[in-house]
Amino acid sequence: MGTEFPVCKECSSGNLLPLSDFGSQGAPIHYKAWVCSQPDCGYNIKIRNGDVYINEPISAGESHVPRTRG
Ligand SMILES: [Zn+2]
Repeated sequence: MGTEFPVCKECSSGNLLPLSDFGSQGAPIHYKAWVCSQPDCGYNIKIRNGDVYINEPISAGESHVPRTRG
């Protein structure tokens, strides 16, 4: 049983995983983005408004990490 996902061209070890999203009307948008399964690679490709974005910085919701002040 081989993998059904394409191999990442960037690191050649991870697989590109398809991610889906939901539109403003709640309609599913399949395969809107592809992300490498290797966290160290981070290769990603996204489609937004018909344009393709490659290797955009991944937003993991950690932009507001509390900073400890000494
Ligand atoms: Zn990769």
